[in-house]
Formats: sequence, C-alpha cells, structure tokens
Amino acid sequence: MIKYVIFLGKPGSGKGTQAQRFVERGWAWLSTGELMRQHIRKQTDLGQQVSHYVQSGSLVPDEITFALVSDFMSGLSDKARVIMDGFPRSKNQAQLLEEWSARNGAELILAIEFCLSDDEALRRLLNRYLCPLCGFIGNAPGRCPKDDAELVRRVDDDEAVILRRIQDYGNYISQLRAYYQRLGKYMAVNGMASPDTITKQLDKVMGVGLR
Ligand code: AMP
Repeated sequence: MIKYVIFLGKPGSGKGTQAQRFVERGWAWLSTGELMRQHIRKQTDLGQQVSHYVQSGSLVPDEITFALVSDFMSGLSDKARVIMDGFPRSKNQAQLLEEWSARNGAELILAIEFCLSDDEALRRLLNRYLCPLCGFIGNAPGRCPKDDAELVRRVDDDEAVILRRIQDYGNYISQLRAYYQRLGKYMAVNGMASPDTITKQLDKVMGVGLR
C-alpha cells in the first residue's frame, strides 16, 4: 500500500529542503509546483496552461493540479512512500486526494505543518537560489553541488508575488489544518528551528515509513 505524508507550510518554510533529505532515504517527492515548473520549462501544453498562474503566484485550477497528482501517484509502486509538498492547497484538493486514496488503497500517515513567521518566509525567499535541473535549494548564488548547473531565482520569488503567496496561504491553511485535525492526522513543527532539528523530529514519524 502506498503511504504518504503531507508537508503543509507557507512558501519558504523549509518543506522542500526536508523533502530532499528524505528523497535520499528512498521517499518519493511530489511537488506540484516543481512538476508545473518542469512543464513550463519544457513548454508542454500543460506548461502553457499553467504558466500564467504560476508566474503570478495564484492557484492553478484543481482539475489541472489533480491530474498531475494522480498521474504521479499512478506511476508509483504500491510500496512507495511519498512526500506531498505544496499539495493539497484547498479543502477540495484534500477531498480529491482522500477519494483517490480510498479508491487506490493509499494511506495518509500524517499532515505536518512547518510553522514560521511571514517575515522569515519573505527573508528566505528573497535569498533563494534553485538548481533548474534537480531542484536543489540554496541560499546564495553559485553552482549546484550535485550537478554543477548555475543556480537560478524563481520568477515567482519576487517580493510582490511572495507577499501574495503568503497571504493565500493564510487564506487556505486554517481549513486544511482543521481538516487534518479532525482526522487526527495533524502535527506542527517549528519551521524556525534548524534543518537538522526538524529532520530529527520528522524522523520520529517518518522513520517508520520505510520499514
Ligand atoms: P510551490 O512550488 O509549491 O511554491 O508552487 C508554485 C506555484 O505552483 C504556486 O504559486 C501555484 O501557482 C502552483 N501550484 C503548486 N501547487 C499547487 C496546488 N496544489 N494547487 C494550485 N496551484 C499550485
């Protein structure tokens, strides 16, 4: 049976950084934002449909987003352990995921929210540099330590767009928090703590995932 955790948290809260650490331990990483950026880079039809939304920091319609999610999930082995990063972003998306899970026998382990202040999220995003090839996340310009590609800034890591994305997060998170609390599957971590401290906390709940 596929099992998954959901990483909730405003942009810049460290979800991607932690996800990359768990990918090294065999977890699959489903970042809807990253999948969309790949489509935009490759100029696919889907990329053209979503590029305006992604660049302006507004939410892509659920049908398009969920098609990406179910495609990704359907390609996994039934022993896969998955981190959902940036999905779901609405109660409707959460319900679509739950229905998919019931139909396909997948199980949510926990929804984990990375909590940090808006100011800290903004500060981090204004200093974020990404590898366009592997998604490595750095905090200074330079080259990717994994594949030597030049690190780039995200077009939506622009101050006005960041503020919009942070505000959007504030609009949808309370619904999602309540949704997963009701299921008894919600946990919060302090996103201001060091990456190693957070990894240790996640290990306690995700360490069992691969056994
Ligand atoms: P992220 O990489 O998670 O920060 O997402 C970047 C952008 O991709 C967002 O600002 C949205 O435009 C789009 N996006 C990613 N995930 C979703 C989602 N679950 N629902 C709608 N839009 C999304």
